[in-house]
Amino acid sequence: MPKTFSPKDIQPVLTGDIRAQLEALPLQADRPLIVTDADEVIAQFIAGLEIFLTRNGFWLDLQSFAISGNVKRADDHSVVERAEVQELLAHFFATDTENLLPVPGAADALAALSTRTQIIVLSNVPQPQRAARQRWLRQHGMDYPLIANSGPKGAAVQHLRSKIAAPVFFLDDLPPNLTSVSELVDDAHLLHFIADSRLAALIGPAPGCHLHTTNWDEAHDYIAKALDMAGFAAAG
Ligand SMILES: [Mg+2]
Repeated sequence: MPKTFSPKDIQPVLTGDIRAQLEALPLQADRPLIVTDADEVIAQFIAGLEIFLTRNGFWLDLQSFAISGNVKRADDHSVVERAEVQELLAHFFATDTENLLPVPGAADALAALSTRTQIIVLSNVPQPQRAARQRWLRQHGMDYPLIANSGPKGAAVQHLRSKIAAPVFFLDDLPPNLTSVSELVDDAHLLHFIADSRLAALIGPAPGCHLHTTNWDEAHDYIAKALDMAGFAAAG
């Protein structure tokens, strides 16, 4: 019988470095797992980017759920070309990764949930800024293990899922990451979290997501209720 095409055929495999980072995690098989993105979920990426752009003679005209195409020059409001936007983003990560403000409520919600879950930050932070991001997490009361991923996140979450016999939660702002996880992990709770409400208003929930939110009270509530229903009671 001819092999039929499946979306799984085009999923990236884990590179050696990402696999090594995942293998080094001290995971408990019987404890629920929260896998959270950093930028725009626990760190105010867009707000920080706007400060950086203003400092450098640009501004972000949020006309669509994208950065490329929406960066404009302050002097003549001309659109900055994609290649230059990529350069600006690399520069931004290099200079401002540790300047980002935390998303309100993120540290408290994660601290409360950590009494009955284990938490990992799965971020597509550029490799050169990995240490800076871990310092940022520590500084803002979210000193959880950081995995510096690259590309769609399904393969990494699938790897983690295979080690955990308890509920798994995945939070991200980018629909392709949520879709990637939904294609490889049948039973992950998918939370489409976009901290910046202007950005959130520009896009609907990613397909198959269980929650679309801009705030940590709602995310905390959703996760706490799902844990209650799965029999992982709150401590105390
Ligand atoms: Mg993000």
